[in-house]
Amino acid sequence: MSFDMTIRKNLDQITSSLPPHVTLVAVSKTKPLSDLMQAYQAGQRVFGENKVQEMVEKYHLMPDDVQWHMIGHLQRNKVKYMAGFVDLIHGVDSLKLLTEIDKQAQKHNRVIKCLLQIKIARESSKFGLPIQEAEALLSSETFKSLKNVRIVGLMGMASFTTDKLQISKEFKTLKSNFDQLKQKLKNLKIISMGMSGDYKLAIDCGSSMIRVGSLIFGARNYN
Ligand SMILES: *Cc1c(COP(=O)(O)O)cnc(C)c1O
Repeated sequence: MSFDMTIRKNLDQITSSLPPHVTLVAVSKTKPLSDLMQAYQAGQRVFGENKVQEMVEKYHLMPDDVQWHMIGHLQRNKVKYMAGFVDLIHGVDSLKLLTEIDKQAQKHNRVIKCLLQIKIARESSKFGLPIQEAEALLSSETFKSLKNVRIVGLMGMASFTTDKLQISKEFKTLKSNFDQLKQKLKNLKIISMGMSGDYKLAIDCGSSMIRVGSLIFGARNYN
């Protein structure tokens, strides 16, 4: 083999232990194209990025059958750059943002799938809607008028802590929020929760989509 097999091994290790209902998003932010290609050659097709510009650049260079997920906090003025190709937007936390996604999706004659980000962490720094606000958004006339977006699930990020009990409490909260909203919104299918450090716990708590970066690609260097 002429190239390093680490990424393939890491991926195999994770995917071989996943229940069939769980989708792995390979979080490739900050990583070079050669790393993404190694994952691609190992069979990975779903990639997550948290910056629009970086995702657009990689989109142009990677094969066509990659599914691109935007997992980061999203500014409204950036939506237009990815509206033509993004497969799933994880971090939708306002009706204003959703309205912009709808407008841009319409220009491309697409329906863009989105997840509502729910605030489950204790920290005030974590983005996301309190569940009551998510319910209000989904009941609003504005939301019902949007034809080019579809809310297909919820996303959450647990507190930054090593306290497993706290993390599992937060994951279980998201799962029960999901079960509650699903009674109103039959389209809901996805619960996006769990990262490198806590994805197994997340799956035990009901996750159907995990976002894993460093465990596949190694630690990130932000310099
Ligand atoms: C970076 C990031 C991840 C992946 O983090 P790892 O700990 O490297 O697995 C998952 N979700 C979001 C929203 C991220 O920004």
